[in-house]
Amino acid sequence: MSVFHDEVEIEDFEYDEETETYSYPCPCGDRFLITREDLENGEDVATCPSCSLILRVIYDQNSYHRSHNGRPDLGPLLQEGVSISWTN
Ligand SMILES: [Zn+2]
Repeated sequence: MSVFHDEVEIEDFEYDEETETYSYPCPCGDRFLITREDLENGEDVATCPSCSLILRVIYDQNSYHRSHNGRPDLGPLLQEGVSISWTN
């Protein structure tokens, strides 16, 4: 059975764009690590390579995906709303 050392929001992690890895300081002196790919796969456990501690990552999986896809549907909807109000 796993026991989490702590629970930390993804905003508090440090992000390395080159390795696409989020990291957070571990009490042992190393850092907890979790990759962006892990998060996109629904993974929420960051592990420390130097000790046995694990960290629960708090994040909203839905908003995480949406922020990468943008909002392609909003433009057409807004244009339709404008044309209707002008017809009246
Ligand atoms: Zn550690």
